[in-house]
Amino acid sequence: MRKVLITGAAGFIGSHLCDKFLDNDSKVVGIDNFITGDWGNISHLQENKNFQFIEQDVNNSFELSGKFDLVLHFACPASPVDYLKHPIETLKVDSLGTFNLLEIANESNSRFILASTSEIYGDPLIHPQIEEYWGNVNSVGIRSVYDEAKRFSEAATMVFYREYDLDVRIPRIFNTYGPRMQLGDGRVVPNFISQALVNEDLTIYGDGSQTRSFCYIEDLLEGIFDLSVIKGLDGEVMNLGSQEEYRILDFADVIIEKVESKSKKKFLPLPEDDPKQRCPDISKAQSLIGWEPKTSLELGLKKTIDYFKNIS
Ligand code: NAD
Ligand code: UDP
Repeated sequence: MRKVLITGAAGFIGSHLCDKFLDNDSKVVGIDNFITGDWGNISHLQENKNFQFIEQDVNNSFELSGKFDLVLHFACPASPVDYLKHPIETLKVDSLGTFNLLEIANESNSRFILASTSEIYGDPLIHPQIEEYWGNVNSVGIRSVYDEAKRFSEAATMVFYREYDLDVRIPRIFNTYGPRMQLGDGRVVPNFISQALVNEDLTIYGDGSQTRSFCYIEDLLEGIFDLSVIKGLDGEVMNLGSQEEYRILDFADVIIEKVESKSKKKFLPLPEDDPKQRCPDISKAQSLIGWEPKTSLELGLKKTIDYFKNIS
């Protein structure tokens, strides 16, 4: 059985990763400090003898007993609303936190997986974004606490690869959605669904011409799992996301239709440095791990809407 350490275990993606590895011949140690996570996301694992939970802020140095085959560093506030509310914690978790986890991985010669993001491309000047693109980031803007910390994390991860020969892999995750997102985390999917469910106006920031593509959580998990377990991918950086690109204005109409809501749309100011267009080139994931998203937006949204209906 492989032994896996997952930080951010009580979060949206981290909690699903715990399930995914537990379902696939692994013992999992999950760590979280609940800054944006929820115990409810992992409470079903309480009795699982292969799961251990440790409440810990990974920004502080800490020790763990035993060795790990895999360390997945997924702790970090990920919604713009969350990381703007916790700017210092966000900078720390993707600098001090990343170093702490890299050291733990290095001590037990574990494979290290860093949750990176499409945000390292900033407001991209090339489209779709390929892994070789260096990005267009405002280093002093409000979003820099997230973007620059993730860029630092990538740099630190690659130093451990070059200096210590540590087996590292970096998924650059594009917008992902699904059950266990927090209803109030401010991201567009939970915002629009929660508004549509109570027939409130959907809040479009700017004129809604900015684009995003939306990957369903189950698809993302397949990609992260494969990138984590397949041999010979040391040092690889890989985009993971959907290539079905929507204008936010049109995405609002999709949500209104799927929820069968009477909501209209209202326009609010565009947040500072909000990227105008975003869509991954996933050729590398297709060729190296044979990965591409399979879940239609229709099915993914149905499952997500049902989840939000049940918890609201
Ligand atoms: P989330 O906010 O739901 O989960 C993050 C988890 O990390 C939370 O449970 C939080 O409490 C925990 N955490 C934060 N700081 C911590 C610390 N110092 N010590 C211990 N735990 C801490 O976010 P998510 O959407 O699940 O994102 C998970 C990871 O994936 C993040 O690194 C994020 O940057 C990355 N990512 C997510 C997306 C997406 O669309 N969801 C896109 C790109 C990248
Ligand atoms: N957005 C919006 N209304 C909302 C929430 C978000 O128009 O209620 C827009 C936001 O400005 C951005 C896109 O939707 O252009 C995606 O936002 P999200 O916060 O989900 O993630 P981002 O891709 O910005 O990290």
